[in-house]
Amino acid sequence: MAYDYEKSIRPGKLPHIWCPGCGHGIVMKGLIRAMDACGLEKKNTAIVSGIGCASRMPGYLDFNTLHTAHGRAAAFATGIKMAKPEMTVICCGGDGDGAAIGGNHFIHACRRNIDMTYVLMNNYIYGMTGGQFSSSTPTGHLASTTPYGNPDPCFDLAKLAIGAGATFVARTTAFHANQIDKLIAEGIKHKGMAIIEVLDDCPTTYGRRNKFRSVVDMMKRLKEIAVPVTAAAKMTPEQLEGKTLTGVLHKEDRPEYCESYAKIIARVQGA
Ligand code: SF4
Ligand code: MG
Repeated sequence: MAYDYEKSIRPGKLPHIWCPGCGHGIVMKGLIRAMDACGLEKKNTAIVSGIGCASRMPGYLDFNTLHTAHGRAAAFATGIKMAKPEMTVICCGGDGDGAAIGGNHFIHACRRNIDMTYVLMNNYIYGMTGGQFSSSTPTGHLASTTPYGNPDPCFDLAKLAIGAGATFVARTTAFHANQIDKLIAEGIKHKGMAIIEVLDDCPTTYGRRNKFRSVVDMMKRLKEIAVPVTAAAKMTPEQLEGKTLTGVLHKEDRPEYCESYAKIIARVQGA
């Protein structure tokens, strides 16, 4: 029997606005399956986003949703989690929103290890605002604001999250649709800050400019660059050149922020 996505979609909200071939729809389906697999109840789940194409996602989902200011999803989500720690809080958004304009909020949410899941769709570009380069646009690649090639080194967003203190960090791609829901579900179950980076594709502002002939070409690239972290140990540095590790990249136990905060309140009130 076909999976029932409709039960999680806000009535009357489809069709979505994403361009043909955009990877965000694949990610949204993965998120829906993950929330279903975790048995999340709509009334106890908050989905938060900033601004951008990926940040339109909560508008389609029939949960408690908040579409906030550019780059501020992690800050609003932190407020929700602090006020209602019993809720499951999920952020979703793109690389420009989450890790460039919102980079400061992103790293500090990781540092605090607050219990939320952040689905970070990395399509290497600011899609909605016209294809400007972001902090994850690869060096030399073309964007509307770098028409002769991006001179900047780019962030490895998963490494950034690990370095900032996130206690669960995983990565997959829009090509690996069957892995997206499993990694998001693992992130939801993890107690602490969980980052799931999904390498995505924007055929409209990134693909055409960087000479991908079709969406199929972009998907082939995602397939080719991905190496499961479990397989990487058996590969040589030469074989790993230009590849990207996928799967669970980091997992650790560390005190969760809301619980630590509650202990301080209890101690002070007790005194
Ligand atoms: Fe997707 Fe790019 Fe279109 Fe935005 S501009 S909806 S990221 S394909
Ligand atoms: Mg983007």
